Amino acid sequence: MTARILVVDDIPANVRLLEVRLLAEYFEVLTANNGADAIETCENGKVDVVLLDVMMPDMDGFEVCKRLKSDPATSHIPVVMITALDQVSDRVRGLEAGADDFLTKPVNDLQLMTRVKSLVRLKSLTDELRLRASTTRNIGIEELLSRDFATEDTKPRVLLIDERRSSVERIQKMLRNSAELDVATDPHAGFFQAAETAYECVLISTAFSDFDALRLCSQLRSLDRTRFLPIMLLADEGEEGRILRGLELGINDYLIRPIDQHELTARLRTQVRRKRYNDQLRASVAQTIEMAVIDGLTGLHNRRYLDSHLQTLFDRAVARRRPLSVMITDLDRFKSINDTHGHDGGDDVLREFARRLRKNVRGIDLACRFGGEEFVVVMPDTDGAVAEKVAERIRAEIAQAPFAIGSDGKAIEVTVSVGVSSLLKGTDSVAALMKRADLALYEAKSGGRNRVVAKAA
Ligand SMILES: [Mg+2]
Repeated sequence: MTARILVVDDIPANVRLLEVRLLAEYFEVLTANNGADAIETCENGKVDVVLLDVMMPDMDGFEVCKRLKSDPATSHIPVVMITALDQVSDRVRGLEAGADDFLTKPVNDLQLMTRVKSLVRLKSLTDELRLRASTTRNIGIEELLSRDFATEDTKPRVLLIDERRSSVERIQKMLRNSAELDVATDPHAGFFQAAETAYECVLISTAFSDFDALRLCSQLRSLDRTRFLPIMLLADEGEEGRILRGLELGINDYLIRPIDQHELTARLRTQVRRKRYNDQLRASVAQTIEMAVIDGLTGLHNRRYLDSHLQTLFDRAVARRRPLSVMITDLDRFKSINDTHGHDGGDDVLREFARRLRKNVRGIDLACRFGGEEFVVVMPDTDGAVAEKVAERIRAEIAQAPFAIGSDGKAIEVTVSVGVSSLLKGTDSVAALMKRADLALYEAKSGGRNRVVAKAA
C-alpha cells in the first residue's frame, strides 16, 4: 500500500523525523512548515493523509483542520493531529475541528504506522466511490459530491456490547443526549443484533470474562452487512498490543478507560459523520449508475444501456447457436399528438405505451426507449416467426384501446408501426441486424402505418 502523506510542523527537525520514518515504510512524503502552505498543498496535490502539528505560530493546527474539513475539495482527506501533551482537552478540540485521529509526541512508531495505514485504507475506499461517481459524468453529480452530507441533527443509533453492568451504566449516562443506545451484554447476541439492525457505530468492550473481543471485531468485518459499520474498542490501560491487533483487523477507533465523556462523544461523532458521508456517497453512486442506464420518463432502459448490452446478447446467441430477434417500434404521427395535446400529453402517451409494451414482453427481453417515440425490444431465444407474433400482439394492444391523457383523462387513438429482424446464420452483425429492423420499420410506415413488417431471415 503506497500513499502520499503530508507532514505539517513548524519545527524542521520534527518534520524530518516523521519524514524519515514514513519514507522507511515506502510512503511518499510531502512537507509544509505552516498552515497556509499545508492547505495549499492539500488543495493542489493528491494528499492521502495529513499529519498535523497542533502548536504552530500564525495558524494553529485546529484552525488548519477546521479549514480543510469545511472545504468540499479537501474535507475527505483524513487528518491526524499531533499534540505535544497528552491532553484530553486538546484531543476534544481537535475532534471538534473534524480531526480523524490523534498521536501524541513523542510519536510511537507502531502506532504511527498502524494509524496512517488504517486511514489510508479508509481514504482509498472514499476515493474509489468519488471516482466512480464522477466518471459517470452525470449532470448534478458534482453538486452531489460537494453537498454537505453531515446530518448531525439526528442522533445516531449505537450498539454497546459490554458485559459489565457498571461500565454499561456509565456509558449509557454519557451518551444519554447524543445517541440512541442499545446494549447487548452477550457478545454472540451482540453480533447478531449488530447484523440485524441499522446501527451507525458499535462500541465493543475488551473486558469479557471468557470471550475475545477481537474475534467479534473480525466477524463484524467479514460480514457484508457490517463491513462498513464503524467499530470503537473500549480498552483498558496496558492493552496496547490488543488495540494494535484490533486496528489491523479494521476497527476504526478506540478509547482507554477511564473514558472521558467529551472524548467519547466527539470520537463517536467523527465516526458517524464519516459513515454517513460514505453511505451517501455510495447511494449517490448507485443512483447515478441507475440514472445513466434508465430512461427517466418511462422507466425502461435507455439507448446507452442498449448500446452496451446488445453486442453481448448478440455474441451469446451466435456462440450458442440460438435465435435472436429485434423489433423497433415507432409511434405513428407522434408529432401531431405533441402539437395537439402539448408535451405533457405526449409524455402521457409515451408512458402508457411503455406500460403496454412491458406487459407484452418477457423478463429476459430487453425493452429500451431508443429516443423520442422510438422503442427497441431485443428478444433472446426468439426466432423471426415468434418475434413477428409478439410484434403483432403489441401493435394490436396499442390500437385496441384509446390512451387516456392529461388530468381529465381525455382519450386519444394511438397506433404504432413495428419493424422486426432476426439473426442470420453465417455472417451477421449488430449493425446489420439493426439496419434490417430499421428498413422493416420504414416499410411499415410507408405501407400505411399501424402494421408490422418482418424482414425474412
Ligand atoms: Mg509546533
